[in-house]
Amino acid sequence: LSDRLTETFRSLRSKGRLSPSDIDKTVREIRRALLDSDVALEVVKSFTQAVRERALGDDVNKALNPAQQVVSIVMEELEAILGGTGRGLTFSKTPPTVIMLAGLQGAGKTTLAGKLAKYLKAEGHTPVLVACDLQRPGAVDQLQIVGGQVEVPVFAPEPGSGVGDPVKVAKDSLRFATDKLHDVVIVDTAGRTGVDEDMMAQARAIRDAVTPDEVLFVLDAMIGQDAVHTARAFGDGVDFTGVVLTKLDGDQKGGAALSVKGITDRDILFASTGEKLDDFEVFHPDRMAKRILDLGDVMTLIEQAQKAFDEESRAEMEQKFLSDTFTLDDFLDQLQQVKKMGSLQSMIGMLPGARGMKEQLDNVDDKDIARTEAIIRSMTPTERVNPKLLNASRRKRIALGSGVSVTDVNQLMARFEQAQKMMKTVAKGGVPQIPGMGPV
Ligand code: GDP
Ligand code: MG
Repeated sequence: LSDRLTETFRSLRSKGRLSPSDIDKTVREIRRALLDSDVALEVVKSFTQAVRERALGDDVNKALNPAQQVVSIVMEELEAILGGTGRGLTFSKTPPTVIMLAGLQGAGKTTLAGKLAKYLKAEGHTPVLVACDLQRPGAVDQLQIVGGQVEVPVFAPEPGSGVGDPVKVAKDSLRFATDKLHDVVIVDTAGRTGVDEDMMAQARAIRDAVTPDEVLFVLDAMIGQDAVHTARAFGDGVDFTGVVLTKLDGDQKGGAALSVKGITDRDILFASTGEKLDDFEVFHPDRMAKRILDLGDVMTLIEQAQKAFDEESRAEMEQKFLSDTFTLDDFLDQLQQVKKMGSLQSMIGMLPGARGMKEQLDNVDDKDIARTEAIIRSMTPTERVNPKLLNASRRKRIALGSGVSVTDVNQLMARFEQAQKMMKTVAKGGVPQIPGMGPV
């Protein structure tokens, strides 16, 4: 999605004045980009119509930089369909607040239950997790493991008690929460691989038994056009109050995010961006809009980066990128820091203009980092500072020394050069506020 849009905007930027036909052409491109990204047709229609109307209006013609003005309009409209200013969770005036999770099997409900509990705990709440997925064998155990990881108690039927009634479990959990002073109850429910009426009826029965303050529809952002159908079915079936998008780490298109709000008129509250319990964010429509436009989610990046970097090392790194003294040692250093920051994939998606790098790097994982480390450690200090020295025989020596193949060494060097190039461009391009840009 963003590649197309970036290209469209680039061609606009060179123009001083925009004719109606320029605008029509741009809108057509945007329309195609959105449709390609699996955004629902009706959402695309109303979006492009709004952009077109505003772009043809006076503001754009009077503006100093009309192209920039069109970009702003697109950004604002994107933000609007993603939910405007966004909203947080609604809490009950009389605790416990009940949050029920609904969605297809595999959408990420159980994982999300843990993430939500962790997030709420950090906000000073005392959540309890409730196991109402009694359908899938192992579902209760899975929630118990997640609960253990975030140190939040799990309310579940006694093992072997033969109790298989999720409605009763949900009801009983409220009394448990009141007794044990848990102020938030998070109800994990069962899903099916496809939408079916039994599942909906069960979800409705649980909902009616506990009258939740929030029913969160958990939606796998990777399911493309199916997102629309599923969102509609759950909207009709349980009438959810908010949405959580999961697997946004894998969603390069952003289509689901754009459709779901438009189709259901429910806000997206949170985003899940990976399998780890830390891969979780409050959903910011403005940031998502920027991310879709590939301007880089600088704010989110900064927040995550600040956890792992201090100011000094950032300035130092930036200097290195600019002055061309970025070495393999620095590369290794950065790889390790990035590892600390969370999943590489989600970081890369946030770097301005770094989309091109993403594909190549999708295969970078911890093992890869360990191998990279081994290879770099097998180089002499001189070689690390001056990789140009690395001729065929040196590469062979390094491969032997680190127990990898020469191809591995070559691949690493190619990646390093690319990182060097990319970081130099980004640093020169005046995006100075990105701390410790990981050259990955
Ligand atoms: P449920 O059936 O809705 O309860 O889904 P689960 O919570 O069991 O998740 C299904 C699978 O998706 C598991 O393997 C999770 O680790 C994975 N998963 C959940 N959320 C995310 C996410 O945000 N990103 C990625 N990449 N995987 C996720
Ligand atoms: Mg589950």
